[in-house]
Amino acid sequence: MSRTFIGNGIVYTGKEVLSPATIAIEGDRILEIVPGALPEKDLPGGQDRWIDATGRLVTPGLVNAHTHIYSALARGIALKDPPPTNFLETLERLWWRLDRALTMEDIELSARLHGVECLRSGVTTIFDHHSSQHAIRGSLQTISAALEDLGLRACLCFEVSDRDGPAAAAAGIEENRSFLRECAGADGSMRRAKFGLHASFTLSNETLKAGAAAGDADGAGFHIHVAEGTIDQALSRERYGCGVIERLKEFGILGKKTIAVHGVHLDDREIEILAASGAWHAHCPQSNMNNAVGAPVLSRFGRAGIRTALGTDGFTANMFREGLAAHLLQTHMAGVPGAGYETVPDLLFGANAALARETFGVEIGHLTPGAPADLVVWDYVPPTPIAKENIWGHVLFGLVNARAMEVMIAGRHRLTDGRLFGGDEDAISARCREAAERLWERF
Ligand SMILES: [Zn+2]
Repeated sequence: MSRTFIGNGIVYTGKEVLSPATIAIEGDRILEIVPGALPEKDLPGGQDRWIDATGRLVTPGLVNAHTHIYSALARGIALKDPPPTNFLETLERLWWRLDRALTMEDIELSARLHGVECLRSGVTTIFDHHSSQHAIRGSLQTISAALEDLGLRACLCFEVSDRDGPAAAAAGIEENRSFLRECAGADGSMRRAKFGLHASFTLSNETLKAGAAAGDADGAGFHIHVAEGTIDQALSRERYGCGVIERLKEFGILGKKTIAVHGVHLDDREIEILAASGAWHAHCPQSNMNNAVGAPVLSRFGRAGIRTALGTDGFTANMFREGLAAHLLQTHMAGVPGAGYETVPDLLFGANAALARETFGVEIGHLTPGAPADLVVWDYVPPTPIAKENIWGHVLFGLVNARAMEVMIAGRHRLTDGRLFGGDEDAISARCREAAERLWERF
């Protein structure tokens, strides 16, 4: 079998920095990592391929713990209502109107567009939360097929909600059920499913009960927005006499495989309940700031033993930029210089990778022999010393501006020298522009 060598890069394995080192890849796996300088002429030759990474940083592929492919065609859209003055109005006047207007073609194009931007940003694994309340059946399969062309690992779900009536809620449940079934019989290392729920405040007891019965908190788990705006908590207390976390616990939604997104407005008791459930917390700082909903203090989650991962909520595909935003936001809120260093550095290469490992069942986020070859060669020659202790400083002040030169997923080249495999980027953009024009008309 032919091999690929990523030669003489500065390799951050996810645990340590080897400088220089050469990564040998065979099939979909890393065969070995050879420390020290290795001349190309020492290659075994034949079919083997040498990719020169001399002096450049090589890292594991990045993971996005929460995104929304369906928002891709909203870039630059003009609202048809007056500007929103709160979170609910943002949902009503933008996102819920948009997701109702999506066609299957829009969904496919959104997946291609977001997928391309992930590859360009060195993101190799995503957790998507999909909503298209008037084009439900087959939507997850459509996204899955589009992402397959690009080679991305993805964990998908459909956003069940009562906001478009009982038929849409039932169809959403069925879409999750059917995609979960499909993933159970497929190669789980590339495609996974969770059971998607919008948020407590748009889910009736009946729908939550049906969702809980169709999903499994300890099996695939659920993927749900939690206390993103104050309205989620207020409506839960008003209608059901308890907070959002208590309500979800009662229905069996929380568990080790569940991702609870945002968690902006949780009191200490709810944080304790969430911690006891073992659920993941996904933090999306740019989205929180853009929606002006407030932001969670990450140290509260960490102290309770909750695992927090980083997501973009569809705001961007760029995880380094999201990491920078998380760092600045935590520091700003704490009012203590450098406070972000306490809670943020471990998210991207630590918790996000762990979430992906747990979900996909392979050693994602760790460049080591036997692990899948998901890696990125960055157009970044570190201008100052680099070690595992200061990798976050390089992210904040250097890598946020770096371009992915080579992206490999499961040993396959997905981006080489800025050239994309699995799709014609200009053609995708052109099709997206046309589809967006029609979508904005219907919106
Ligand atoms: Zn979201």
